[in-house]
Amino acid sequence: MKNRVLLPRQGQFYKANLHCHTIHSDGHWTPEQVKEEYQKRGYSIVAFTDHRHYGWHPQLMDDTFIPLAGFEADMNDWFKKEGDFKHVKCYHLLLWDKDPAQHQGYTAQQPARRYGDLHSLNEYLETMQQQGFLTCYNHPYWSLQTYNDYAHLAHLNAMEIYNHGCEHDGLYGYAPQAYDEMLRSGLHLGCIATDDNHNTYPTDHPLCDSFGGWVMLKLDTLSYPAVIEALEKGNYYASTGPELYELYIEDDALHVRCSDVKKIYVMTDSRNCYYRHAMPGETVNEAVFPLKGDEGYIRVDCEDEYRRHAYSNAYFLNTL
Ligand SMILES: [Zn+2]
Ligand SMILES: [Zn+2]
Repeated sequence: MKNRVLLPRQGQFYKANLHCHTIHSDGHWTPEQVKEEYQKRGYSIVAFTDHRHYGWHPQLMDDTFIPLAGFEADMNDWFKKEGDFKHVKCYHLLLWDKDPAQHQGYTAQQPARRYGDLHSLNEYLETMQQQGFLTCYNHPYWSLQTYNDYAHLAHLNAMEIYNHGCEHDGLYGYAPQAYDEMLRSGLHLGCIATDDNHNTYPTDHPLCDSFGGWVMLKLDTLSYPAVIEALEKGNYYASTGPELYELYIEDDALHVRCSDVKKIYVMTDSRNCYYRHAMPGETVNEAVFPLKGDEGYIRVDCEDEYRRHAYSNAYFLNTL
C-alpha cells in the first residue's frame, strides 16, 4: 500500500457552513446578518443555498469571507401523497456554483421530471455539473428516503452526513448509514455536516439552528477558487464538534490525529471496523490502525464525550 497523505498537510483549515437559508426563501436573516453572525463565530465561508433561489452576494466577499453562490433544488413525490406534505418523500439537493462570473442573471434550475425517475434525476445532476455546479444530496432521513431512493444516485460530489436543522426538527440530523450505503453501492463522494439554518429562533435559544454542523476546508489561501478546489478534491472533513488534524497512510497503517475524544473509529466497506476507545475518565487524540488492504474504503469517525462527531471523507484504497 502506498504511503499517502489523506488530509493535506500544507495550508490552513477554514470553517464553512455549506447549507444556509436567508430571507430570499424561508430563512429569517439577511445575507448580511448571516455573514456577521457566522464571522463572529470563526466561520470564513458560507454557501447561500435558498430554496429554488440562486443566491450570489458578491458584496459580502472580502479577504476574510467567501460567500459561495448556490441554491437548493427539490423534487417531491406528490404523486403518491397528494396534498399532505408531511408524508411526501422528497429529494433536496445543494448546487454550489464553481464560478458565478459564468452565471450572471442565472435562475435556479429545478429537476424537471416526476419523483421516482432516477434516470432523469441523474441526468439533471450530470447537466448541473456540466454547467459548472458542484452537487450534494441532503438530509435523507428528514426526506423520508430509503436505500432505493439514494443508493443509485450519480454525479454527486457530496452528501450530508449531518444536518443541524433536521436534528432539531425530529432528531433526523445524522445519516452515517446512508453514507455507507451510498459508498457500498459504488458511489465515490464526500460527506459534509451543515446547519441548513433558517434562524426562526434567536442565537441564544436551544432551537437555534446555526453553528451545529460545519466543514473544515484545508486551503493554501482563502479565495473562491481555492474553496471550490478543496470541495472538488475532498480536502476537508465534517464536524459537529471534534477536530481532525492529520490523516495519512504510512507503512500500511492509517494514522489519525484529532482533538480529545472518547472513540476513534474507522469504517470500511464491510462489518470489519477498527477502533480505539478511551478508558473511563480519559480521552484519546491519536490512533494507528494497521490496514490489510481489503477494506475497500476507509473513513474515520471520532466521537467526543458529548457524542459529537468529526467525520472524514471516505477514501477508496484502490484509487489511492
Ligand atoms: Zn432541504
Ligand atoms: Zn435547506
